[in-house]
Amino acid sequence: MNYQNSLAFAIEQDELDSLKRFRDRFLIPKHKGEDAIYLCGNSLGLQPKSAAQYIADQMANWQNLAVEGWFQGSDSWLEYHKPLTRSIANIVGASENEVAVMNSLTVNLHLLMISFYKPDSKRFKIIMEGGAFPSDQYAMESQVKFHGLDPKDAIIEIFPREGEVTLRTEDILNCINEHGDELALVMFSGINYYTGQFFDLPAIAKAAHDAGAYAGFDLAHAAGNVPLKLHEWGADFACWCSYKYMNSGPGGISGIFVHEKHFTDKAMNRLAGWWGYRADRRFLMTPGFDPAVGAEGWQVSTSPIILLALFKASMAIFDTVGDIDILRKKSVALTGYLEFLTGEINKDRGDNVFNIITPANEADRGCQLSIVCSRNAKKIFNYLAENGVIGDWREPDVIRLSPVPLYNSFQDVYHTAKHLANAIEAVK
Ligand SMILES: *Cc1c(COP(=O)(O)O)cnc(C)c1O
Repeated sequence: MNYQNSLAFAIEQDELDSLKRFRDRFLIPKHKGEDAIYLCGNSLGLQPKSAAQYIADQMANWQNLAVEGWFQGSDSWLEYHKPLTRSIANIVGASENEVAVMNSLTVNLHLLMISFYKPDSKRFKIIMEGGAFPSDQYAMESQVKFHGLDPKDAIIEIFPREGEVTLRTEDILNCINEHGDELALVMFSGINYYTGQFFDLPAIAKAAHDAGAYAGFDLAHAAGNVPLKLHEWGADFACWCSYKYMNSGPGGISGIFVHEKHFTDKAMNRLAGWWGYRADRRFLMTPGFDPAVGAEGWQVSTSPIILLALFKASMAIFDTVGDIDILRKKSVALTGYLEFLTGEINKDRGDNVFNIITPANEADRGCQLSIVCSRNAKKIFNYLAENGVIGDWREPDVIRLSPVPLYNSFQDVYHTAKHLANAIEAVK
């Protein structure tokens, strides 16, 4: 796209935008009585206007049907997750029986590790990206210790080369090959939360398998953001949260993917609970765990219907859009526009105050740009906040800004760049 640094251009792009009507489906926080510019969907997506009604409907079912709500009504609670399973299968590129909507993200990561991390004396290593989200680091360390191993021996983190900020795919693949015989698992995020780098997941999955290891992905920053094809890529397992790009509310319900090639392995370790029992016989309450065939066999506890209701409000919007590729097209244009305008600020001033560490190649990133400020970083961030631009801050000097195609506009991006430019002088 040929970008222009003008408000007229931004207005024109918004008029041409086939997704512009979706902004009106969200509640946008206010700043001094006006809509704030919300570029923080990477951390917490906005509330769909419909969400309160989805909850109210289930409160009414609880009030009117009480326990019969599990079995009665057009959306009985026993069946309530089914449309969600369909929607999320589309978003992550899986068949319906490969996904389940349950728990929260780190809990799911632990449950999946119980099944997919089975170290023995020969294969016990886990390769992960250096600087992974802390919860994932803690989860991996504690899993390794749980098996009586030392994280220092068992966990290999890959860091960027000297002088570089993101990982080269070739370095990831070489590391996997190098540790091949000792490797149990390659565990990567889809998009790194700090740099915004979107990893080459199919290449990573293939290298892991060639080495005889499993490939697992944490898609917290990728699900609902970039197109995913978990089944086709052969990922063994994955999990994600829904409160970032999927707008399901703080602490919203998570989900898992288990590739169908693992469904026949009944010997797989798992931490079982009755909700993972085959649904047709769950209420016979017989001894001996007989798991549902599919990802739902990893469920443990009763579905939290209120959380599912929130997720349903959001998924209805994704379903109306129809295809993640449609969102992706606008996302690439919006994020590219923010990158272009940030570059214009540097050009105009002849100094590089803003240095984007997110990959410049649009295929290697999602919505988010991580911008390092070479001076006054925290003050610039505060200036944005005081002027109604909501991004987020990561120590020591990174501002993360994520234009989200469902509710952000080209004008949001244009005004953000103006505030960024003004901030440099204002905070001197
Ligand atoms: C956001 C995020 C989490 C958060 O996990 P919760 O269990 O939902 O608190 C974990 N991992 C990654 C990679 C994340 O981006």
